[in-house]
Amino acid sequence: MIRTRFAPSPTGSMHIGNLRTALYEYLIAKRHGGVFVLRIEDTDQSRLVDGAMGIIFDTLKLTGLNYDEGPLVGGDYGPYIQSERKSLYMPYAKELVEKQHAYYCFCTKEQLESRNLQKYDRHCLNLPQNQIAEKLASGTPFVIRQFIPAGKTTFKDEIFGKITIEHEEIEDQVLIKSDGMPTYNFANVIDDHTMAITHVVRGSEYLTSTPKYNLLYKAFGWDIPTYVHLPLMLNEQGEKLSKRHGAASFQDLLDMGYLPAAIINYIAFLGWSSPDNREYFTLAELAEVFDIKNISKSSSLFDHKKLAWMNGEHIKRLDSEVFYKMALPFLESSLKGKTADFRDFRKIASTVQSRIAFLKEIPELLDFVDKLPEYDIALFVHKKMKSSTETALAALTAILPLYEKVSTEDWHNDNLYNIAVECGKTLEYKNSQILWPIRTALSGKESSPGGASELCEMFGKEESLRRIGVAIGKLGGT
Ligand code: GLU
Repeated sequence: MIRTRFAPSPTGSMHIGNLRTALYEYLIAKRHGGVFVLRIEDTDQSRLVDGAMGIIFDTLKLTGLNYDEGPLVGGDYGPYIQSERKSLYMPYAKELVEKQHAYYCFCTKEQLESRNLQKYDRHCLNLPQNQIAEKLASGTPFVIRQFIPAGKTTFKDEIFGKITIEHEEIEDQVLIKSDGMPTYNFANVIDDHTMAITHVVRGSEYLTSTPKYNLLYKAFGWDIPTYVHLPLMLNEQGEKLSKRHGAASFQDLLDMGYLPAAIINYIAFLGWSSPDNREYFTLAELAEVFDIKNISKSSSLFDHKKLAWMNGEHIKRLDSEVFYKMALPFLESSLKGKTADFRDFRKIASTVQSRIAFLKEIPELLDFVDKLPEYDIALFVHKKMKSSTETALAALTAILPLYEKVSTEDWHNDNLYNIAVECGKTLEYKNSQILWPIRTALSGKESSPGGASELCEMFGKEESLRRIGVAIGKLGGT
């Protein structure tokens, strides 16, 4: 059974790179019917930020990356929280001391600073047993350090392949800090083992630390998990993602108007490629096809244009009622002028749904609805549509009485379209020669969401006829 874990530290916002890690861990587990665990790594108490835990929960909830297990908190699974597991780590550290894979260190911060070391100098490695016992008995603050033997470690990463690191490059790192808390470097090994994690997925910045963890697994006689280190994620300029250059966090993207589902779909592709070049995926669909084999080791560039396109694809496919509810505040704010009867917000919403990449585009898209804009009759002239002011005037003069005869019950898109096309035929016009003038008359704009008959339906009979009448007047007709 595959078991993965997302192990964020509650130190602030949810970085896009971290969210991608969570997504891949979720997908790797779900693809194989496995378990996805959430573990809050809060042992570095000095880096904790108020509210950061809430951000982690909210992000996972909004994106649907639900974790499967954890300690029971009031009938629900809570996440594993390292600080609440504090007492678990010390016995393991002591076991390592006994096995001589770790040792007590009593060097103070000041002493270390005054020695100006690149790497810990093993000052406490060979302290006599009685001295250690005395210091411990008198309550002298201590840390426990890992003893890194001479040699080198070679390991296999699923993405980066075989990697060898000389132990000379590694320090005797601290496992237990003077406040009794484990360091990340120690806790991640104990937790991954005790939680039976099979696949450790994390950023490639952890590659060079992996030998230290492998030495710990070996010292305990535990199996080493499968490693999946993810490539870097860069902005369009090839730099680290930062708020200053676009966006760095999930929250930044939400603020810019991206939907969680589109963000998830997009970041799946930052380092992974779909086997059949398909681009639109829901989370459930991703979980059916995601394969570690298709993760690349080259860094991926964050492309806002692509994400915007994807956002439009997700908006398009939203259930119309869901979209309507999301669009309503934008509709209300952009159509707040007069209270005209023709404003059927549901209809307006369905007209714009397939035409936007962001909800915030709605007001500009609909700026012709509340009030017919001032427009020039040159708008009726369109070479491609074979429309001129003369053909437009004839078209509108012909359609007006036909539309006047349509009852309000029959006032709908298909019917109005057919009437226009039939009317065009009698005038020996191409469809575009009749439809373009109607659309222009209704919108007063060069482009608008919805074609002629769609706009007519959206405006309703009275307002549509009024606008057609205005156009006929402008074109010099009566
Ligand atoms: N707490 C670490 C981080 O946020 C987790 C790294 C890991 O997945 O092991 O980077």
